[in-house]
Amino acid sequence: MEAVVEKKLGDIVNLISGVSHEYTRDRIEIRISAGAVKNGLTFEKMKTFISEMLLKEFPFIEAVSVHIYTDREAVKAGLKIARKIYEKRDERAISMHDEEAGKFYGCKICQISSPSHVCIITPDRPSVCGTINWFEAAASAAANPDGPVFEIEKGEVLDEAGGEYAGVNRALITESGGENERVLLYSLIENPHTTGSVFEIVAFFIPEINGIGLIDRSSKTPSVNCLTFEEMMIFTGYGAQISGFSGVGEMYLLSEKFMRKEGGWENVVWISHSLKDKLIQKIESKNPKRYEKLLSRIRLIPTEKDVKNLDALADYWNRHE
Ligand code: SF4
Repeated sequence: MEAVVEKKLGDIVNLISGVSHEYTRDRIEIRISAGAVKNGLTFEKMKTFISEMLLKEFPFIEAVSVHIYTDREAVKAGLKIARKIYEKRDERAISMHDEEAGKFYGCKICQISSPSHVCIITPDRPSVCGTINWFEAAASAAANPDGPVFEIEKGEVLDEAGGEYAGVNRALITESGGENERVLLYSLIENPHTTGSVFEIVAFFIPEINGIGLIDRSSKTPSVNCLTFEEMMIFTGYGAQISGFSGVGEMYLLSEKFMRKEGGWENVVWISHSLKDKLIQKIESKNPKRYEKLLSRIRLIPTEKDVKNLDALADYWNRHE
């Protein structure tokens, strides 16, 4: 349940007037306006509000203790603990595949800001925000059946390579208010998964060379299609289904079903430098043997440091394939 409570925490903090909270996992940005402090906002008041809201939102929680850390060293120590927990969660998440799951799950937490967005959470496709995997969604739906995370019957497989399921489409129509009718879980072009307001990575199609690009939130320079993460975020996010653009969580990148319909990693032709570094480090520190093939593919993919435009990108692949 941790992941779902954790995710809701951001929405609760955002309800406090003069405070904004944005996060994907351990990348958290909280702003408190000077005006709010002038009007009497204190950490004590925030703590009381957060406790009351958590008890109200999650009936299974019996008691809450809120601690707010402002000391840099204490925050760093907390981060270390959090990252260890994320690693454990990730390890467990990659141990199972979609074929083995009897049910999938949906999440509607982001409908506060993206009314037509519904996350479909499967073992091979963790949430777009990267914070809720299949096991956590299952625990949440079981403990809080009226909550934002719900069960989805898979139904008939309509497209195996693309990951289209009749039951998932039915749930999507109902939960998106009819805005979106079909989703192919492993496709970037054909009815791709929608994206809410908070996500880590944009996968985008590069029609000029028929390949996939990946850019992460921490990348500040434009991608090879001249658009920055923020620019792509405007039309990728907020629940619209746009062919060729989809937000993805980091763990989905390690799935063998990642954009399988368009060739998966074998067809990723550009990646932002920061994401490439992060992925290499993650795989090397974890399980380099298991991801040997993926690691060598990632090492080959050019970043903004290697190619500056689409012509240079085409040139690069002419030389490397
Ligand atoms: S991105 Fe998806 S899983 Fe994450 S909070 Fe939003 S709806 Fe839920």
